[in-house]
Amino acid sequence: MDLYSGYINRLVAELAVLPGIGGKSAQRLAFHIINMPEDQVKKLADAMIQAKENIRYCSECYTLTDRDVCPVCSNTARNHKQIMVVENTRDMTAYEKTGKYEGVYHVLHGAINPSLGIGPSDIRLAELIKRLEKDVDEVIIATNSSIEGETTAMYISKLIKPTGIKVTRIASGVPVGGELEYIDEVTLSRALEARTEL
Ligand code: ZN
Repeated sequence: MDLYSGYINRLVAELAVLPGIGGKSAQRLAFHIINMPEDQVKKLADAMIQAKENIRYCSECYTLTDRDVCPVCSNTARNHKQIMVVENTRDMTAYEKTGKYEGVYHVLHGAINPSLGIGPSDIRLAELIKRLEKDVDEVIIATNSSIEGETTAMYISKLIKPTGIKVTRIASGVPVGGELEYIDEVTLSRALEARTEL
């Protein structure tokens, strides 16, 4: 016999799909939502639908944005010959917060991870190589210092080297295994300044 209504079970099942939300958390959230005022629940649902419907990938750097070309790529004051490669939009935001970087970005949306079956063709790598046909002076690889991030950095470096374009890697100071988005702005700025050529 079902302890709860089918509606609750469905809500729990949908919430449990989210990353980091196990069965128990999903149940807790489901009951919390049911106890929320109806207009607040509608606001939450509407925010999710609006975000999904209006957010797309920037046609140049592939970050998540609500425009065809994101604010960074459409800013002519930025140095479009310098491209920083990051794993996701959150990492790009972390670097933007430092206010120290004047180039543009390329968002991979992941990192190479053979154990999860994520290969080079599963991230936005071909799109990066295509961008290099334009006038580019430097590619700064700012993937995380996890095994996947390092693997991705090595792979990209080998791919770009033959083109003669300068390839650099942000310095350590970003702790090993550290996720870029959790690192403070000073450390990020230092890691960028002390980048080394690969
Ligand atoms: Zn962009």
